[in-house]
Amino acid sequence: MSAYDDLMAFQRETEALGQVAGRLGWDQETVMPRGAAPQRAEEMAALTGVIHNRRTDPRIGTWLETAEASDEVEAAQLREIRRGFERTSRVPAELAAEIAKVTSTAQGIWAEARAADDFGAFSPTLDRVLELRREEAAALADGGDLYDALLEDYEPGTSATEIEALFNALRPRLVDLRARVLASGTQVEKLTGDFPEDGQLKISEQLARAFGYDMSCGRIDRAVHPFSSGSGLDVRITTRTSLGDPFNCFYSTIHEVGHAAYEQGISTDFLLTPLGRGVSMGVHESQSRIYENQLGRGRAFTGYLFGRMKDVFGDFGVADEDAFYQVVNRVAPGMIRTEADEIHYNLHVMLRFDLERALISGDLLVKDLPGAWNDRFEADFGVKVDKMSDGCLQDVHWSVGLFGYFPTYTLGNVYAGCLNQALRAAVPDLDAHLARGDTAPATGWLRENLQQYGGTYLPSDIIERASGRALSVEPLLTYLEAKFAEIYSL
Ligand code: ZN
Repeated sequence: MSAYDDLMAFQRETEALGQVAGRLGWDQETVMPRGAAPQRAEEMAALTGVIHNRRTDPRIGTWLETAEASDEVEAAQLREIRRGFERTSRVPAELAAEIAKVTSTAQGIWAEARAADDFGAFSPTLDRVLELRREEAAALADGGDLYDALLEDYEPGTSATEIEALFNALRPRLVDLRARVLASGTQVEKLTGDFPEDGQLKISEQLARAFGYDMSCGRIDRAVHPFSSGSGLDVRITTRTSLGDPFNCFYSTIHEVGHAAYEQGISTDFLLTPLGRGVSMGVHESQSRIYENQLGRGRAFTGYLFGRMKDVFGDFGVADEDAFYQVVNRVAPGMIRTEADEIHYNLHVMLRFDLERALISGDLLVKDLPGAWNDRFEADFGVKVDKMSDGCLQDVHWSVGLFGYFPTYTLGNVYAGCLNQALRAAVPDLDAHLARGDTAPATGWLRENLQQYGGTYLPSDIIERASGRALSVEPLLTYLEAKFAEIYSL
């Protein structure tokens, strides 16, 4: 056995244990009995310890010194293993343990503070989480930028400066488009009435299948906050239902199917290896967003969805496909990111990106966060934040230390814009297929040009390869401006 083979055999077991840990997490959010929580915490801690020991095993360093790659794929495997090993080796074990301990209780404290609309109840915890993550970032950055060091976990190969440049190009035109839509005088109706939940779940499964989700290697369950989980041959998704808001269920399902299809689309040659999962959060989000928005909220596919809803719910008060397309794409300035339309969503993300960079750099103190949030929100959205749970307490991310994660949501949208442009050029009659609920030409193109490669290429490289152009916000902006100019008669 060569050093490369030894290393890969060792890594494969670590990857398998990582999948088991992920499945325990899935179980906890879906079907685990509530009374099992204390035991589960101990089970998870034990497994996490085993995995951590394997990831920092000194033999990895020795193997990496002598392992040689014989082709591009093996080189990429070594690149990913080296990146992970160097990262875990740089962070002192005590610090890693303290971060795990503090963030495991911080989420509960955040949830209680949010329910009570009480920032003061969360602020000392956030202070501590921030302090630990800054310490970790300093260990990782080795004198470089702290925020970039954290970003590397979610979007390798990019920097805050690059993201800032993209966002600076995006923000003025989004703010302008938002203002023109709201001033247009066009009233788009909202869906009203009740939609029985068994009917929602039936359509949800049809949608998952329509978007190519392989149910023989997956399953759909319900969760409070929808997510997808797993890689390779076991990729599961969750959705949720809300009696008066079936779109929440349908578009959560399509979004999670986008994530799951990426994992299911990766070449099985990479099963249980570092290349056998999505390369970054941003690329992952590009898949969920293009399925959800450019495909799922497009005129052609909403025509198909309108028919399915009429089959299941009868006449639900929307006259025809054109009116339905408007209802699906209604623009409304809300305070909650996860409920935002395609225009407002990115403004939510940019607000968080700027504030968390300032928190990490030390320019913004935790005690000043609510004021900074509220001022920025009013400037971008034209509305005053009414309460903390609609403001800086709404997202779970910072409580669990996920600084550097937020920008990947908008990067995903920017990537999706580039991919959509290339997809439409490659498949000119795509809409004729989508109108019949046939997404195969789109999902096939994405699998062929992006998904199959898993972690082989760095995020910006795979997006540029697949879309055949340099990364740019232009395709996303052109798409949004054309779509909403038509809906709102701008
Ligand atoms: Zn997502």
